[in-house]
Amino acid sequence: MQVLKFGGSSLADAQRYKVVRDIVLDKQQTANTAVVLSAPKGVTNNLVALVDAAIAGLSTTDLMAQLENTIHTIINDLAAEYPNYDKAYVAGIAADKIAFLTNRLKGIGLLGECPEAVNASIICLGEFISVEIFAALVRVSDVQATVIDPTKLIVANGGFLESQADIEASRKLFSQAALPNTGVWVMPGFCAQNAQGDLVTLGRNGSDYSAAILAACIDAEVCEIWTDVDGVYNADPNKVYNAQLVDQLSYQEAMELSYFGAKVLHPKTIGPIAQYHIPCRIRNTLNPAAPGTLITSESTDGDHVVKGISTLNDVTMVNVAGPGMKGMVGMASRIFDAISRAKISVVLITQSSSEYSISFCIHSSDSSRAQDVLEQEFELELSNQLLEPMEFRDHLSVISIVGDGMRMHKGIAAKFFASLSQTNVNIVAIAQGSSERSISAVIEGKKAQDAIKVTHQNFFTNLHVIDAFIVGCGTVGKALIQQLTKQQPILKARNISLQVYGIANSRKMAVDNAGLNLTEWQQSLENAQSKFTLENLKRFVADNHLINPVIIDCTSNESIADQYAEFLAAGFHVVTPNKKANTSSMAFYQQIREAAAETNRRFLYETNVGAGLPVIDTLQSLISAGDELIGFQGILSGSLSFIFGKLDEGMSLSQATAIARENGFTEPDPRDDLSGMDVARKLLIMAREAGMEMELSDIDVESVLPADFDAEGSIDEFMTNLPKADAHYKAMMESAKEKGQVLRYVGIIEDGKCRCSIQAVGPEHPLYAIKDGENALAIHSLYYQPIPLVIRGYGAGADVTAAGVFADLMRTMPWKREV
Ligand code: ADP
Ligand code: ASP
Ligand code: MG
Repeated sequence: MQVLKFGGSSLADAQRYKVVRDIVLDKQQTANTAVVLSAPKGVTNNLVALVDAAIAGLSTTDLMAQLENTIHTIINDLAAEYPNYDKAYVAGIAADKIAFLTNRLKGIGLLGECPEAVNASIICLGEFISVEIFAALVRVSDVQATVIDPTKLIVANGGFLESQADIEASRKLFSQAALPNTGVWVMPGFCAQNAQGDLVTLGRNGSDYSAAILAACIDAEVCEIWTDVDGVYNADPNKVYNAQLVDQLSYQEAMELSYFGAKVLHPKTIGPIAQYHIPCRIRNTLNPAAPGTLITSESTDGDHVVKGISTLNDVTMVNVAGPGMKGMVGMASRIFDAISRAKISVVLITQSSSEYSISFCIHSSDSSRAQDVLEQEFELELSNQLLEPMEFRDHLSVISIVGDGMRMHKGIAAKFFASLSQTNVNIVAIAQGSSERSISAVIEGKKAQDAIKVTHQNFFTNLHVIDAFIVGCGTVGKALIQQLTKQQPILKARNISLQVYGIANSRKMAVDNAGLNLTEWQQSLENAQSKFTLENLKRFVADNHLINPVIIDCTSNESIADQYAEFLAAGFHVVTPNKKANTSSMAFYQQIREAAAETNRRFLYETNVGAGLPVIDTLQSLISAGDELIGFQGILSGSLSFIFGKLDEGMSLSQATAIARENGFTEPDPRDDLSGMDVARKLLIMAREAGMEMELSDIDVESVLPADFDAEGSIDEFMTNLPKADAHYKAMMESAKEKGQVLRYVGIIEDGKCRCSIQAVGPEHPLYAIKDGENALAIHSLYYQPIPLVIRGYGAGADVTAAGVFADLMRTMPWKREV
C-alpha cells in the first residue's frame, strides 16, 4: 500500500484536481493507494478568518461568499467537463457543510467567543469537502473511490486544535475497520478523534502528519507528500532564489529542518514514519517526473555537511530573571510546567550559566497567554522582587542550520556566526540541538531574509557578492564603469557576482534592482528619477536584500565625504579616491574608522595617494607588523612630476603647465596642483596612516608659484599671467644645473613634521629620475634603513586610478573559509 498526500498548493482549482487525479490513477496501477487530501488552496485560511470575524462581531458575508465561490467554482468546472461527474452528490455535501458552518458562526457571533471544539469542527470543513470533490472525480474514470473518516479511525490526544496521534490505538481501529481492498481510499487530512470521540485537528499544516499516521497504521511501503516544489531544498526556494534541491535526508534532518521552519513538511510527520521505518518522498504535483527528496533512516553526507537552512519567523523571546533564580530548585520546571499547561509550545531554550536567567522562545501568537500564565505562576516572587518583571521581546526570527554530519566537523558554527556577522545582524541568543545536528541563532526578524541569503551563499554556493553604487561619473567614474563592464565575464567565471545597482551624479541617481546595464548607464542616468541620498540607498538595499553594499565615491566632493561615517554606520562599505574625508579633521578621521569597525564594514582609499600604486596598503602592513615610519620623501603629484620634468628639459614653467593641462594631467584649475595643496593632502594621509595625529593646517606647504605672483582671476587670466613666474624658475633651474641637480616638488615627513617644498636633488637622490607624471615614494622605516623602501610608477590618470578603485572594491568581499 502506498500513501499519497496532496496539499492545498496542489488543489487550487479544478485543473489541479485533475492533475492530482491523473497522478493517483497512474500510481494505483502498480500498488494499492490511499490518498490524503488537504482543503482546496486558501480554504482553511478562509475558515479561520470566518471564525475570527464571528468572534469579533464583524460581518462574515464577504468571507462566506469567497468560500462558497472557491468551492462551487471547482465543482461546477469539473461537472462542466465531465457529464458523469456526480455534481448533485458533491454539491449536496458541500451545502450541508456550509449550512453547518453558517449555523456555528451565528452561535459564535452571539457568544462573542468560540470554544476550541467548535473551532476544530469548523476549520477542517475544507478537507471534508475536498475529499468528496476528488472521490467523485476518480469515480468518473470508473475507479472505485472510498472516502475514509479519520474522526473514526485516528485517535489523537492533546488539545482540540493541536493533537498528537496515538499510533497504537489508531492501528487497532484500522485493523478492525472493514475497508475495501480495491480502488482508492481517500482520507481528509488535518483531523482525528480524541479518546472521547470528539473531532480534533492536528495543528495547522497538519495534513502531512495525517498522511504519516495513515502510513504507519496500514504499514505502507511509502508515504509520498506531493506539493508545489520539487522536494526539500537547502533553503526555502521562495526566499532564496538559488536554493538547491536535496536528494536525500535522514528522518532527523528532515525533522530539524521542518521544526525550525521548513514548511514543506510538518515537523510531526517524521515521528510515525521513522517509528515504522517508512520511506517518505517529497514530490511535485506540477512536475511528476522529478524524483523528489527521499527521507529515510539513512544519513548521507553528500557534498555538504550542512544539509539545509531554515527560518522561523514571528518568534518572541521570554526572559525570566532575578536574584530569586539562583540556586532555587525547580524554577525551570515551574516555568515550563506553566507554559505547557497553557498548551504553548516552546521553540528553543537557553540558560545563562550564572543561573540568573532562563530565556526561551515561543511563537508570538502565544505571547500574551504566556505572559498571563507566567505572571500568575510567579505572582509571589514578582511581588517580592525575587524576580524581575518578565521581558517579552517580539519580532524575532530563528535561523537554523541542520545536518547529521555537523557533529563530526569543526568550524561549522564559526562559519555560521561569521555569516550572521557579515549580515550585520545582532544575535539575541544561540542554541545547539543536543544531537549536534542543528545550530540555531535567534536574530531580529527584519534581518532574517538577509541572514538566510548570506548563510546560504557561504555554505552552499561559494558565491561572492558585491553590490555596488557609484557616485561621480567624471573621468575616474567613467573609466571604472568601463573596467567593470569589461571584467564582468571573468568575475562571473570566478563565482563573483558584481552588480552595479546605482550610478549617481550630483543631481540624480539611476537604480535598477536587477543591476544596471553598464553599456547604457548614461541613458539610465538621464531618465533617472531618484537622488543620491543615504535614505534612498538604505531603502533600496533593504527592499532588495542586498548583503554586501558598497558606495564608490568617485567625486572630489566634500559634502559626500562628510557622510562616510553615516554610510559605514548604515552598513555600506566605502571605496574612494576622494581625499576629502581623510584630510578633514582628525576627529572625523577617527569617527569614520570607528563607524567601520562598529559595523564590520571597510573603508578603502588606496587611490588617495599615488593613484593605483600600492602605497596605503604597504604602509598599513608595515605599521601593523610593528614597523615605524622614520621619514618619508616622495613625489606625490603626477602633474607636478610632469611639469618639473619638463623644466629639466629647459621648458619654461608656463609652457610646461600649458602642456600638462592640455594633456589632462592637471586638475581643471592648474592652481589646485600648483598651490601644493593636493600634495599636502596626500602627505597628511601618509602621516596619519603612520600614526601621526595632525591636521592639514599643521603642514608646511610651499606653493609652486613664487610668493609675489598674483594668482587671482579666471583660469584663462591665470594662464596668461603665468609666464611672469618663468624668470623665477629659470634662475632656480640654472643654479641647480650648475650643481648637477634638478628641481622636484617633494613631500617630506621628517622629525614628526610634514612639509611640501621645491627641492634641488642630485643624481644620487631616489627622486632625481622621477618625471613625466611618474610618482615615487621613499619610505624610511625601522626595517627599511638606510636604504628606503621605494614605490614608484605611474601615479596619475583615470585608468590607473580606476583600476586602484576596482582593486579596493574587490577587497570588500568577505573572507571565506571552506568547510
Ligand atoms: P502544501 O500545501 O502542499 O502542504 P506548503 O505550502 O505547506 O504546501 O509547503 C510547500 C512550501 O514550503 C513551498 O512552496 C515552499 O515555499 C515552502 N518551503 C519552506 N522551506 C522549504 C524547503 N526547505 N524546501 C522546500 N520548500 C520549502
Ligand atoms: N488545510 C490545513 C491547513 O491549511 C491542513 C493542511 O493543509 O496541511 O492548515
Ligand atoms: Mg503543507
